Amino acid sequence: MGSAIVVESVRKAYGDIRALDGVNLAIEEGAVFGLLGPNGAGKTTLVRVLTTLLKPDSGRAVVLGCDTVRDAVALRSRIGLAGQYAAVDQTLTGYENLEMVGRLYNLGAAEARRRTDDLLERMDLTEAAHRPVRTYSGGMQRRLDLAAGLVGRPEVLVMDEPTTGLDPRSRLELWKIMEEMVTEGATLLLTTQYLEEADRLASRVAVIDAGRLISEGTPDELKSQMHGDVLEMTIADGAEVERAAEILGRHGRSLEVDRAGQQVRMTVADTSGALAALRDIDESGVGIADLQLRHPSLDDVFLALTGRTAEAGEAEAGPGAGRRGWWTGMFGGRRGGRRNGARR
Ligand code: ATP
Repeated sequence: MGSAIVVESVRKAYGDIRALDGVNLAIEEGAVFGLLGPNGAGKTTLVRVLTTLLKPDSGRAVVLGCDTVRDAVALRSRIGLAGQYAAVDQTLTGYENLEMVGRLYNLGAAEARRRTDDLLERMDLTEAAHRPVRTYSGGMQRRLDLAAGLVGRPEVLVMDEPTTGLDPRSRLELWKIMEEMVTEGATLLLTTQYLEEADRLASRVAVIDAGRLISEGTPDELKSQMHGDVLEMTIADGAEVERAAEILGRHGRSLEVDRAGQQVRMTVADTSGALAALRDIDESGVGIADLQLRHPSLDDVFLALTGRTAEAGEAEAGPGAGRRGWWTGMFGGRRGGRRNGARR
């Protein structure tokens, strides 16, 4: 199968800020590709380049064989954008908006109506279908925005943080619709800060940080690059957290300490590494309130690569300051080592 999306050395700066700093990427037809990154990483800028809304300073992007700058007009009728930028007309009703978009995408009248009814129902907008959009709540407008991106059955659908701010029911329904579109052959690119979403939906994932792609692979490949399991423990007495960290530091890599939560987390090579660490803790007399040994999640990978948790979106203070180089170095090594198939 060919590539639906190819990005070659794309750069885009805003003054001194390098929003995209030489991005290369290929996304296969029919894939669901997840683009993960903290706030300000460059996700939206890449989305805007791919959907012809922004011209890169250098490099090029090709979507469905069309150059996003040279062939922008031809491309626009074959791609959809849902999420932060899809505009709906406030003066029209929800129904009119969707039907109009369907017609713009050259669906026949009957198909546009059928698709409009279906999406209104699934996005829980049937009752409000014939009211002007300006009377809709924020959440309703957001759901209509998403439906507008889906109605034309685009061959490539780019979704910028599609489920941010959606209620759980709508989120599940949207996931279902996305899966159906892929079954029908569409290619999906979604940006997200929800790692669970990428893990559940995406066949491949790239992590972007400060305008650069810092890792790419299947969710399992990224997890397996952690080369080990995660040992997490809650220390019974807050005053002993430092001592526990010092002892554990002899056994594992990439130690993280959450003083407020009295938690210590680290990566161990295998179960015997974990047991050795636990034996030492036990002998020291430090009490453990809770303990967990688990396969790494995409959350761990994300933190390892960017030095941030997905939700926080910014560097964490504290003794982990040197952690970023450490972790990043760890990921620079061989790829696709041990598979541990664990899905959260
Ligand atoms: P978020 O998750 O917060 O939407 P993002 O990963 O989508 O973040 P971008 O919106 O692509 O990130 O922004 C990348 C960088 O470029 C940021 O530092 C941002 O402040 C900057 N930036 C984006 N758009 C502009 C603009 N129009 N003018 C100046 N700087 C911009």
